[in-house]
Amino acid sequence: MEFRRDPLRLIGVIVAPERSRRPHEGKTKEFRCPFCKGNEELTPPEIARFPGDGEDWLVRVIPNKYPIVPDHEVIVETPSHEADIDILPGEHLQLLVRVWYERLKAYHSKEYVLLFRNYGLDAGASLVHPHAQLIALDRVPDLVEAEVRGLSGDSCLLCGGYATVLVKDDGCAVGVPNVQAFPYEVWIFPTKHARIFEPSEAFVHLLRRTIAALKRMGIKSYNMVLHQSPRSRDYHWHLEILPRMGRLAGFELGTGMRVLHHSREEFMEQFLRFYR
Ligand SMILES: [Zn+2]
Ligand SMILES: [Zn+2]
Ligand SMILES: [Zn+2]
Repeated sequence: MEFRRDPLRLIGVIVAPERSRRPHEGKTKEFRCPFCKGNEELTPPEIARFPGDGEDWLVRVIPNKYPIVPDHEVIVETPSHEADIDILPGEHLQLLVRVWYERLKAYHSKEYVLLFRNYGLDAGASLVHPHAQLIALDRVPDLVEAEVRGLSGDSCLLCGGYATVLVKDDGCAVGVPNVQAFPYEVWIFPTKHARIFEPSEAFVHLLRRTIAALKRMGIKSYNMVLHQSPRSRDYHWHLEILPRMGRLAGFELGTGMRVLHHSREEFMEQFLRFYR
């Protein structure tokens, strides 16, 4: 593993040749999903399983077989190949979100820990089976460093109404950032300033309904990133849900800008119609 930062374009690059060996569903004829129940022997030895250590697991934590950095875990979210957040039973989703919290906490001494999910082929997932990934880094990524400047102290933008709140539940909110960087982008965040992700019931409730609403709106692929505080810094944690419709193309790559085909207002109105 090697880290490089381009001084001209300020882009960080990690060279991880292992990644090229990842299996891709559909590319090999006799594909056996390593995350499905019964195929546990296809993954590296597991770090933890929940609940307990019985055969009937709901969530498994394993090291990534093709890591981007040395600390790279996969959280297999369900034994079933096609369940997503919007259809998992309530207790299962609550357990899963608790596991996110526990695994993030396990790396508290690292400079930065990122939890993310790629759902659907357009979101870059090499396996359809729902899973999250966690990466612990020795440096704070530039993008997070920029967010620290906007989300700390008395001038925290999220505390100051940066996101328009669409739905609220017991200290947690679903909101649309002032400028959406992706079509249909939404965030979930605590209404009160907090550095560390809190797996509350309200969060679970909003997460399930938000994903369900986006799917009703026709979203098939999305990325999720959980941004919590870098080590010993102030911050306002939030979950970014980034639907993927279409790809970044020449204009986006050549300018660093994005093109949205709808207005923020149109999106908000539509979201609320599909949210239940
Ligand atoms: Zn599977
Ligand atoms: Zn804040
Ligand atoms: Zn963020």
